[in-house]
Amino acid sequence: MPDAQPEPQSVPQPPAGAGAALAAASSAALSPATLAVVAGRPPRTPDAEVNVGVSLTSTYVGSASTGAGGRGYGRFGNPTWEAFEEALGALEGGSALTFASGMGAVSAVLGLLPAGASLLVPHGAYNGTHALAGLLRQRGVLGDVVGVDITDPGDVREALAAAGAGALLWLESPTNPLLEVADLRALTELGHAAGALVAVDNTFATPLLQRPLDLGADVVVHSVTKFLAGHSDVVLGAVVVRDAELRTRLLQQRTLHGAIPGPLEVFLALRGLRTLHLRLERSQASAAELARRLAGHRAVRRVRHPSLPSDPGHELAARQMGGFGAIVSVEVAGGAAAADAVVDAVRLWLPATSLGGVESLIERRRRHPSEPAVVPEDLLRLSVGVEDVEDLWRDLDAALSSAL
Ligand SMILES: *Cc1c(COP(=O)(O)O)cnc(C)c1O
Repeated sequence: MPDAQPEPQSVPQPPAGAGAALAAASSAALSPATLAVVAGRPPRTPDAEVNVGVSLTSTYVGSASTGAGGRGYGRFGNPTWEAFEEALGALEGGSALTFASGMGAVSAVLGLLPAGASLLVPHGAYNGTHALAGLLRQRGVLGDVVGVDITDPGDVREALAAAGAGALLWLESPTNPLLEVADLRALTELGHAAGALVAVDNTFATPLLQRPLDLGADVVVHSVTKFLAGHSDVVLGAVVVRDAELRTRLLQQRTLHGAIPGPLEVFLALRGLRTLHLRLERSQASAAELARRLAGHRAVRRVRHPSLPSDPGHELAARQMGGFGAIVSVEVAGGAAAADAVVDAVRLWLPATSLGGVESLIERRRRHPSEPAVVPEDLLRLSVGVEDVEDLWRDLDAALSSAL
């Protein structure tokens, strides 16, 4: 362990990865599908490796005169992290930092707030975000925690006015699991006009479908566990920003709170990211097809997916997003018991929490006591994977019919 913690101002900045220049130079010219493949590679020199490897080291050789190199110590930086951060940064159009989990990333962002500041959070935000906000409120770290309806700019404007300057407006779009769509540009403008910092949890959309920094947001948060890594084999998070000072403060959070990711997890996430565009293309096409069929199923009360013309978020999502995403929520006729019966009856869909992997998952969200009460008891969240859509439909149709 190093003798002293780095001074806040001197938390070491990891050296820009070898491919940083490439990513920066090409992010304007190359499409996201290409960036997902090429960003974060070692330099193209004879005999260079094609992938940055799993860098297993707790410390780095420093210079005798200054006592430290650029990285210094394993908690400050790691070449495998830097490769992933370069790729995600290129995709989101900012500078990325990886964290040990999505919640580690959420935690670091909430840690930017001065003591007593207010947090505005969507009624239907991820339940972990709600739970953490509640904990910080209880301890007096946060002032007010105010639920907002992100589909209603008027409601957000009022809450911002009441919160005063220095608040954090937390956005998530589409939300987990109600799939509400927020007008990110409009709400970000409202937030900034009120002197608030604006963060967007972009886990459901991924940078391939929307880039919140381009829409004005200050901070983007990811549960990398989900679509970015994409294979249900790691838990990981990330934060992406453009502002250098914000980045320094977030790096300080990571270094001093110590919620650092393991290099193997980050390697797997980068490998998963290489095929994000292919996985998402297949998953969201299947999701839209399943949503369309489910809307006509007699065992279904309501389907939520922004691809459906009847969905309240359809028009906005069509304008704001490059696709409608791979999560579908279904409210089952017959209530919670019928929904549980569907989960018990599926044979191909995997009854499990989480989402965004290659395998399709199904879950009744209110089985978690921490799930916000705005989520209906009979709601099943479907994470559509990359299996054949007809196989997925037959299994779902049979399970729904058996639960009638
Ligand atoms: C899963 C999830 C998180 C939390 O991420 P972990 O990787 O599980 O810590 C945050 N936000 C959203 C939208 C999520 O789906």
